[in-house]
Amino acid sequence: MTEDVIIIGGGVMGASAAYWLTRMSPGLRVLVVERDPTYQRAATALSVASVRQQFSAAVNVKISRFAIDFIRNFAERIGPTAEVASLGLKENGYLFLTTRPDQAALMRELAAMQRAAGAATEVWTAAQTRARYPWLNTDDIAAGSIGLRDEGWFDNMGLLQGFRNAARAQGARFIKAEATGVQVTGGRVTGVQIEGRGLVPCAAVINAAGTRAAQVMAWAGLPHPVEPRKRTVFVIDAPNARHPDAPLLIDHGFYLRPEGQGQWITATVPQDDGPCDVNDFEPDLHLFEEVIWEQLYHRAPGFDAVKVVRHWVGQYDYCTLDQNAILGPHPALANLYLMSGFSGHGLQQSPAVGRGIAEHILHGGWQSLDLSELSVDRVVQGKPLLELAVV
Ligand SMILES: Cc1cc2nc3c(=O)[nH]c(=O)nc-3n(C[C@H](O)[C@H](O)[C@H](O)COP(=O)(O)OP(=O)(O)OC[C@H]3O[C@@H](n4cnc5c(N)ncnc54)[C@H](O)[C@@H]3O)c2cc1C
Repeated sequence: MTEDVIIIGGGVMGASAAYWLTRMSPGLRVLVVERDPTYQRAATALSVASVRQQFSAAVNVKISRFAIDFIRNFAERIGPTAEVASLGLKENGYLFLTTRPDQAALMRELAAMQRAAGAATEVWTAAQTRARYPWLNTDDIAAGSIGLRDEGWFDNMGLLQGFRNAARAQGARFIKAEATGVQVTGGRVTGVQIEGRGLVPCAAVINAAGTRAAQVMAWAGLPHPVEPRKRTVFVIDAPNARHPDAPLLIDHGFYLRPEGQGQWITATVPQDDGPCDVNDFEPDLHLFEEVIWEQLYHRAPGFDAVKVVRHWVGQYDYCTLDQNAILGPHPALANLYLMSGFSGHGLQQSPAVGRGIAEHILHGGWQSLDLSELSVDRVVQGKPLLELAVV
């Protein structure tokens, strides 16, 4: 039997699309193909799971306006079939610091744009920043951009499971299998090759394959500027730094946020950042000692005694064009839809992006939110929509 939509990848993007499609169109035949339902290596499971309003591209702020309401009121928005009572949003804010006066001016400009969209971003002086967070060394700070509401962190697996449970209850089917190819006939994808099932005919396909999205596009002979990039995340214990009200701090060279009881999460972007093998999950353990710790201690002297208690490795699906998502139908194959290239901010974008893709498939265009700036066309035309706030 022909599937209405086959979704390749059952991470948060695939699950969100399945949820919205079956919510908007009950009875639609939606098949989600996931090679590893343990999600051991899926970015969704390895995420730092934070949500912010502070983006430089206005469309990302609009996506986040929807995200924060959806995350905060998850049970109510998604309904009881999700079987998730709360995503436990911890609304401590994001604090971007800069030591550069020219960036302070840019921060003020972006904060005004974000406030116009409904966010609560404020730009503080060094003294204001220190007054609120006295444990920070702000001597070299030119400004701090803070969102005291609508920003924080939440339960990533709760979001995924909620989407999956609700989608299933609405009739979507999730199978454990690997998609290995697509059949293209007359400028359309007419079927997906699925391990153990052969060629499954379909009316539309969503590529939600995360770090493997470029492989899927290669099956159709199409280039795709998305590559896996490794990120090693450290969980640290710092007995002299107990600040449970701390925001997610973004400094030059590292980020930091509280985690659980008295611990912290921290990570950095490696100097030699570049593509890695999709199966490379070897941690870059030297990054804590050699890159993060010194900067962390400079910014917050309470981190004088620090122990790494745990670490994990995740991969970004990194968009090399402009570090922004690539969404919607491909101009060369009109029934092949992309949800790809999230470059480290996809978890929070999944509610709005899933809804957008579902609307596009069902109604032939963006509806609730105009996501056209993130469309595949900009990629094909080589016109970047640069996102400056990439963490
Ligand atoms: C360390 C780290 C920190 C992050 N922090 C944040 C954050 O704070 N906030 C935020 O919003 N985002 C964050 N992100 C990004 C966010 O986690 C991702 O953008 C998001 O989870 C992407 O979801 P996805 O469903 O596209 O990808 P994934 O979760 O990777 O799912 C893709 C799925 O596709 C499956 N698949 C691939 N190919 C095939 C195939 N051929 N057949 C069948 N199945 C296939 C894979 O098995 C996988 O499960 C972070 C990411 C990392 C790695």
